[in-house]
Amino acid sequence: MRKPIIAGNWKLNKSPKETAEFVAGVKGKLADPAKVEAVIGAPAVDLQTLLDAAKGTDLKVASENSYFEDAGAYTGETSPKVLAEMGVDYGIIGHSERRGYFHETDEDINKKAHALLRNGVTPIICCGESLETRQAGKVAEWVSGQVKAALKGLTAGQVGSLIIAYEPIWAIGTGETASPEQAQEVCKLIRQTVADLYDQKTADSLRIQYGGSMKPANVKELMAQPDIDGGLVGGASLQPDSFLELVHYQD
Ligand code: 13P
Repeated sequence: MRKPIIAGNWKLNKSPKETAEFVAGVKGKLADPAKVEAVIGAPAVDLQTLLDAAKGTDLKVASENSYFEDAGAYTGETSPKVLAEMGVDYGIIGHSERRGYFHETDEDINKKAHALLRNGVTPIICCGESLETRQAGKVAEWVSGQVKAALKGLTAGQVGSLIIAYEPIWAIGTGETASPEQAQEVCKLIRQTVADLYDQKTADSLRIQYGGSMKPANVKELMAQPDIDGGLVGGASLQPDSFLELVHYQD
């Protein structure tokens, strides 16, 4: 059985002070960790505050980006080795905002996946199509291409342990959510792509999240889809109340 995972992605929001306030707001109110994992992804400069505040709670911590080298002359980058030493559990990589604004390529994302795994941090690998790609009828080709490129050279054991987040770009921050059927169709395709690349057992253990305007009002129907194991949530993860509603979607 795949454990559901609801992860916030704060993007470039919240200061250390706001981070501590958020954790104080969810402390003692999270869902049973045996039923659902609750994760917050925060900017690198907030991670230590988040880790300190989350100590002793069931909240897990994700970085929003990391580099593919552990150390060296790479001014401004975030080391996956340091993330591991700090106790960060998950590393989001390949978000469409990173791909778009910061020109990250499929090859970079594949190297980042290798780097996180070699350091013992679980990657959350993002993929998803633009509106133009959807309108051109090329969603399957595009998303399976991104998945294949991101997983290049990884073992079945590694792939079975990681997370892929399907985030259609047209649904991010727009208030327009993919319908449960649209989201399921692509999440199923992602699992099939992994089954074809590896085997059914690997595909069945991999967790797939949907992201793009997920909120308390639509979380239940999205999470009811057979190939959706979680959510990667931007806007609705910023306030303790709505984050708590999301993690308690089963109640
Ligand atoms: P929104 O939930 O704000 O649409 O953002 C989704 C996202 O990009 C999560 O990574």
